[in-house]
Order: sequence, then C-alpha cells, then structure tokens
Amino acid sequence: MPEVNPRSIATPQSFNRRRLTTLLCTAVLCPLASAQDEGVQVGEKSRFTRLVSADQIEAAGAQQYQQMGRQAAAQGALAPQTDPQVIRLREIAKRIIPLTPPWNPRAKQWRWEVNLFYSAQLNAFCLPGGKIAFFYGLLEKLQLTDDEVAMVMGHEIAHALREHARERMGKSMATDGVIQLGAALLGLGNMGQYLANMGGQLLKLTYSRSDESEADLVGMELAARAGYNPAAGLSLWEKMSAAAKGAPPQWLSTHPAGATRMADIRRNLSKVQPLYERADKPPQRFALAPPFKKPPPLQQ
Ligand SMILES: [Zn+2]
Repeated sequence: MPEVNPRSIATPQSFNRRRLTTLLCTAVLCPLASAQDEGVQVGEKSRFTRLVSADQIEAAGAQQYQQMGRQAAAQGALAPQTDPQVIRLREIAKRIIPLTPPWNPRAKQWRWEVNLFYSAQLNAFCLPGGKIAFFYGLLEKLQLTDDEVAMVMGHEIAHALREHARERMGKSMATDGVIQLGAALLGLGNMGQYLANMGGQLLKLTYSRSDESEADLVGMELAARAGYNPAAGLSLWEKMSAAAKGAPPQWLSTHPAGATRMADIRRNLSKVQPLYERADKPPQRFALAPPFKKPPPLQQ
C-alpha cells in the first residue's frame, strides 16, 4: 500500500490555499508558484448538499446496496469472493481507497465494499458511503485493462467523495417543493417519505455535465496516485464510444463519451502524469480475458 502524505495531496482546501499562494506569488513574482501546480482542480461543493445530511444519504446507499446484493445472491448473480474478477476489483480498490480521505474526511469511516454482479450491462457505480458495484458486461465486453478499471473505479468513487448524489437529492427536494422551510425544520411534511424513497432513487440518478467532469478529473488523479496510468482515460472512453454504436449501454447513457469529455481528459493528463510516474506501481497485473462461466443474468 503506498504511503500517503496528506499534505502532498491536492485537496479542495489546498486548491484555495494554492490559489491564494499563486495570487501572493504573482504579486511578488515568486519563482516557486509553478512548482506547486500539480493535480487537478475542482470547485467547492454545491450548497444543495446541505439539504440532505451525509448520514442520511450514506445510510440510504448502504441499504440500497445491501438489498441489491441480497437480490443478486438469491438469483446466483452475485459473484463469489473467489471469482478472479472480484479479487482483481478488490486489489485495485485497495490501492485507491487509502487515497480518498483528503477529498472527503468521512471516507475514513466508510465501510467500503466492492462487488461484482453477473449482469451483461455495461455499468458500474459507487453509492454514497463507499459501496462499489461493477457489472460483468463492462469488464467483459470492453476487455478493460487494470488501468481502465482503475479509471472507472476512480470516477465512480469521485462521485461519492464529492457527494454528487447528496447534491442531486438536495436539488430535487428543493425543486419538487418537498422542503417548505418551516416543515423541514420541524421534521414535518413530505420530507420523511422522500428520504425513505431515497435509496431507490440513488440507482437512477443522472449527474450534471459539471459533476461528470469533476468525477473524471478527481478519478484520474486518484487512479494516477494509486499507480495506474491516467492515459487509460482516453482508451476507456474510446472503447465506450465504440460500444455505444448499436444499443447505448447503461453506463454510457448517463456518461456520454463526447468530444468535450475526451478533450478535458487530454488537457488534464499532464497534471496527473507526474503523480503516476512517482507512484508505487501495482505488483501484479490481472488477466484481460478471464475464463468466464456464463452466469444467470441479474433480474432488476
Ligand atoms: Zn459519472
């Protein structure tokens, strides 16, 4: 496991510090300003996150994940711990997870889980609280390399760290008029029911373009620091867009592989490439095309 020095990691707080340093340095022509410019930059979290508590959304994530796992297990569609692809996913996650707290201190307490679902869908997600799911179709059809798996995983983990689901839920509560301020303060109104339905909605969320872009950048940095080549972001999206010809796969319907996305990734590569070069590399690479016994599909 790579040693992490939190001070060397670019957190949202350190971005502010860095901006300040840059301003100060520009004023006095400080020669060190450019040497500190490393890692990606993202903005502050949305104020909509405040409408739903982190505890509530993480509890909803855990409940939804558990329910999905139970249903899949009943159908024989939850991959066992001995599945080579489960071992692979967990090894990759083990390298990324220790790097997450600087992005969100709550991540230290999250009970992280990584599971593989025997489903032909091209899909993956990380629910609030660190509950990661990969669908077999994504690994098999796109023949993902470890670097590409790390990019997908980093991206999904970044959504959870930056609390995009919490922000989405807050926004939809606000626009649905669920929150009338007085009622919310007194714990009255539709709020209780809304929160009870939250778990089911987590799997259907679509994020904004800016959330997606943020997840791409933070994910790329996480993967790079974990020793995975961030250039895999480009090959991943090329594979995704090729797979989209024909029926659009699930993940792609919420993650369009447009030219802007590719250009953003390409533009930010130079910021994370040095992190990758300095990082400890994974001691082992996993097979591209594992022996695959066709499992019963997951009914959803
Ligand atoms: Zn995304």
